[in-house]
Amino acid sequence: MTDVSIRRVRGGSRVYDAAAAGASYRTGVAATSSSTHTDPYATHSRAVSDLCQHYRALPPGAPVRLGKKTSNLFRFRPPTTGARLPAESLDRVLSVDPTTRTADVQGMVTYERLVEATLAYGLMPLVVPQLKTITLGGAVSGLGIESTSFRNGLPHESVAEMEILTGDGQVVTARPDGEHAGLFAGFPNSYGTLGYALRLRIELEPVQPYVRLRHLRFSDADEALATMAEIGADAAHDGDRVDFLDGVVFGRDEVYLTLGTFTDSAPATSDYSGQRIYYRSIQQRTEDHLSVADYLWRWDTDWFWCSRAFGVQHPLVRRLWPRRWRRSDVYRRLVAADRRWALSDRLDRLRRRPSQEAVIQDVEVPIGRTAQFLDFFHSEIGISPIWLCPLKLRSSNPWPLYPLNPDELYVNVGFWSTVPLGPGQDDGFHNRRIEEMVDALEGHKSLYSTVHYPADEFWRRYNGQDYEQLKRTYDPDGRLPDLYDKCVRMK
Ligand SMILES: Cc1cc2nc3c(=O)[nH]c(=O)nc-3n(C[C@H](O)[C@H](O)[C@H](O)COP(=O)(O)OP(=O)(O)OC[C@H]3O[C@@H](n4cnc5c(N)ncnc54)[C@H](O)[C@@H]3O)c2cc1C
Repeated sequence: MTDVSIRRVRGGSRVYDAAAAGASYRTGVAATSSSTHTDPYATHSRAVSDLCQHYRALPPGAPVRLGKKTSNLFRFRPPTTGARLPAESLDRVLSVDPTTRTADVQGMVTYERLVEATLAYGLMPLVVPQLKTITLGGAVSGLGIESTSFRNGLPHESVAEMEILTGDGQVVTARPDGEHAGLFAGFPNSYGTLGYALRLRIELEPVQPYVRLRHLRFSDADEALATMAEIGADAAHDGDRVDFLDGVVFGRDEVYLTLGTFTDSAPATSDYSGQRIYYRSIQQRTEDHLSVADYLWRWDTDWFWCSRAFGVQHPLVRRLWPRRWRRSDVYRRLVAADRRWALSDRLDRLRRRPSQEAVIQDVEVPIGRTAQFLDFFHSEIGISPIWLCPLKLRSSNPWPLYPLNPDELYVNVGFWSTVPLGPGQDDGFHNRRIEEMVDALEGHKSLYSTVHYPADEFWRRYNGQDYEQLKRTYDPDGRLPDLYDKCVRMK
């Protein structure tokens, strides 16, 4: 790390200058546009003031949507006529303070940019969602998860304060205590229906340059989940510390756990952003080493395994497919175009194939019931591979709109594909079966994709009572859609 990368601003924290700082940990992205010539906090204040004026000038009753360049939502609503709130400029890391291990970050900063800024100081956010264009605001108001979640919980649990433009046009600073503590607790899983996060202060943790991976194979889910529970409790396996933990199910009798441990050196490192494919390596090797940046983005290059839908895993196509397009945001744009023009649907009809239902979900199931969920999933849904990621809340209090039990180790089960619809089955049939099973097993379902709950069930599961209270306080005129309208009715 070079000192020229750092400029002191208020209270001893330091403005981040990626161009100067990026040398110490390879991140694979170009330096950001951060500049040391203007005070980022002054620029931030001006941007907030412009945004508020814009918001207040919208005609009352006009639907509002957040204007940003990227999205990782998997609900493709019809092109909206709602007023767009231009928030793209709030995409900077304002400062990183290596002494307090905190960063001050604007709400639309992507994790790609955030990780680049913090790795320059040998630090990273406590949880880094796998997809490069997920933003901090998106991961906090929606939910995020990654392989540190068994020890660090979810991204919103390392937020110290948030500046929020609320539905009634005010800007408030919400903290775990004080006047807006209710909003702070209710913001995660509110999906921009109470307000928009404009700036967040987050905790960071130190990294080492490399991650050593061990891929353990199990011949059934019970055995794998028992090992996951042990590691979840001890953060260690066979006497070695475990810093990262996730898993992949390729079939009933082929389950892997991947254990990651920070190290200062590596005999050699792998690169899965070229011809080789990370998820295949799990089946092929028992040990591996990656630079910390390559580890954090290991799932982005092939969107876990979903790039295969575009042929990108075929050796010839992969050679021709430009490296800069091997990214999750490129694949998502292709899917969005496919949905907009209903290309796959038309092709299925032409080939007289059954219609397909998109089953793209992440659910959290208590670890003691995850084998049961997988059994159901193999029998009735049949998608593979499946991603497993353990998580335990960091906080001892539940978060009201996504009430996981703080004492429980959950497993996030992620599956992203399509399933044929049988005769008499309408679109939503498989997703609804999954919702019912998740509920029966006392799990929870993330809301970033399609949601099929009837209203009464939805509000029971996502704490309608607390939500209504927050909505009355922070968006009394209902300028932003409510959570049910947004997630289920896709408004
Ligand atoms: C295939 C797939 C796999 C996924 N896997 C993972 C995973 O493994 N780990 C993980 O963490 N997540 C995963 N996600 C989910 C993803 O984290 C969420 O969809 C997240 O909310 C997206 O953040 P975004 O920044 O792209 O937000 P957007 O897609 O732009 O917005 C998401 C929602 O949040 C609201 N929002 C966005 N920014 C703000 C803000 N600043 N303030 C208030 N509200 C805001 C928007 O209004 C919108 O309702 C996955 C998604 C997909 C499609």
